[in-house]
Amino acid sequence: MPEGHSVHRLARQFQDVFGGRRLDVSSPQGRFAAGAQVLTGHTMVEAMAHGKQLFLRFDHELFLHVHLGLYGAWNFGGDSTFTGASSIGAPRRIGEKESGPAADDTGYVGPPPPVGAVRVRLVSDHGWADLRGATTCAAITSAEAQAVLDRLGPDPLHNRGGDRDEFIRRLRRRKTAVALLLMDQSVLAGVGNIYRAEVLFRQAMDPWTPGSSIGVESAGQLWDDTVDAMSDGVRDGRIVTTPPTVWTGGAAMAPDADAHFVYKRDGMPCRACGTIVGMTEIGARKLYWCPGCQV
Ligand SMILES: [Zn+2]
Repeated sequence: MPEGHSVHRLARQFQDVFGGRRLDVSSPQGRFAAGAQVLTGHTMVEAMAHGKQLFLRFDHELFLHVHLGLYGAWNFGGDSTFTGASSIGAPRRIGEKESGPAADDTGYVGPPPPVGAVRVRLVSDHGWADLRGATTCAAITSAEAQAVLDRLGPDPLHNRGGDRDEFIRRLRRRKTAVALLLMDQSVLAGVGNIYRAEVLFRQAMDPWTPGSSIGVESAGQLWDDTVDAMSDGVRDGRIVTTPPTVWTGGAAMAPDADAHFVYKRDGMPCRACGTIVGMTEIGARKLYWCPGCQV
């Protein structure tokens, strides 16, 4: 599932390529036909992300709300003024990387015929975007969008005034293990399995620590490090939580095998202490941690 940094990058891309543009909205697959009908012909005013939720606001104050879930993905294409990554989402298919721009300099004549189950297609004068496989795709009112936002905790990628304190409050009021709380979108919006494992490692925090027994200072450091790690992800378009000193062969970019401290490194020695990295299931998701460092 794309973590919050991917969804924020998507919001930026939508703002860049569709902001202020009148869009034709359709549902080639048919499942979003009614929603497409109320949005089509309107101008997309603003693209926003909060955690893993994407909202496209149109000029009649209706929103397209999308949550990619495990299998959702957007594909983009268009003329040379229509730039950005051509495919974002569905990390099981494309990894944490995004593919390069799919600009067509040979003369853009419109989108290609839809392939497969395209839930929604957005088309401007310069390009198109296709959504497939999303968990949520809905046309909603501003009150409904606000209701979605009200259920979510603070987003480290907004880091607005008060967000840090709000995270600390939400984390410390529960006795649940911190590893579960970090993935609870009502505590913190946007963190997925990779950032959860990596930030807990970087903070040398035992994943089973109850939220209520984490001090205010440690909780604040957890927030700050999550902000740092996810901001790097927005900049890089991939999740790299290790410093260059860890990267083999003096690489300028982290090789995939060196990008993480513990995520998917179970059975290998910890980069810091040499203890074998552990893996277990918690909340039906795999948790990776170092039993030597995180005690
Ligand atoms: Zn260790």
